[in-house]
Order: sequence, then structure tokens, then C-alpha cells
Amino acid sequence: MPKRNDLEQKALQYIMNTGFEGVLQSELWRKLGASSREGSRIALKLEEKNLIRRERELRDGRWTYRLYPKRIPSSIDSIADVPCLKCSDNTRCDSSSAISPQNCEKLTEWLLSTAKNESGILGDS
Ligand code: SF4
Repeated sequence: MPKRNDLEQKALQYIMNTGFEGVLQSELWRKLGASSREGSRIALKLEEKNLIRRERELRDGRWTYRLYPKRIPSSIDSIADVPCLKCSDNTRCDSSSAISPQNCEKLTEWLLSTAKNESGILGDS
């Protein structure tokens, strides 16, 4: 039987990898080979540490929890279309010069559209 700290670490890693989709508590414990009692304890601990959030979900007529990571790890895909990568001013762009990220319309537009897309994924919660 795995140690509780190992399980906690594995559970957190698994939940982090589920991203915006999250994972049903019961599904996670099955994958990790933990009992539901032990799994519930670990989920509460991770929630207390502010690493995950739990949302009640009705599944097959029974209430359970879906677990979501509090922080989504960023990926290279998330910045693949940032305008700075193809910008002709890239080498002159600096926060202390006239061409800077602080007053760049292209970057502002990109950030706003990224934020808008993410809020759509999150359901404006
Ligand atoms: S912040 Fe704007 S000006 Fe600077 S590199 Fe990015 S796109 Fe170009």
C-alpha cells in the first residue's frame, strides 16, 4: 500500500494534468489504487492547502466530487501565437524605451483575446 504522502503527491500531479476538465474523485482513487475513505481524506487535505477545489457533481444518481487544480500549469502552446515572437520591433522592445510591452496594442489585444477565451472555457465563473 503506498504511503499517504506519496498518494497525496500522485493525486495532485494527476489532478494538475486534468486541467480545466478535472477528474471525478472516485475515478482518481481507482487509478491510484486508494480506498475512497483514504482518497476523501487526501482530497480534503489538498483543498485545505489551497491546491485543488472540489465541486459537487451528481453522477449516476449519487453525489460525488469533481476535483480541479487551483493552478493550471502553463504550456508552450499557450504562448505559441503571442505577437512578440514574430514582431519586427522585438529587439528594440524594452520596458524602458518608447517601444515597450506596457504600451503595445498588439500585445494588449492578444492578452485580452486570451483572457476572453479562457473565461469562455471557465464559464465566466
Ligand atoms: S510587446 Fe509589442 S512591440 Fe514589444 S515585442 Fe511584443 S509585440 Fe512587439
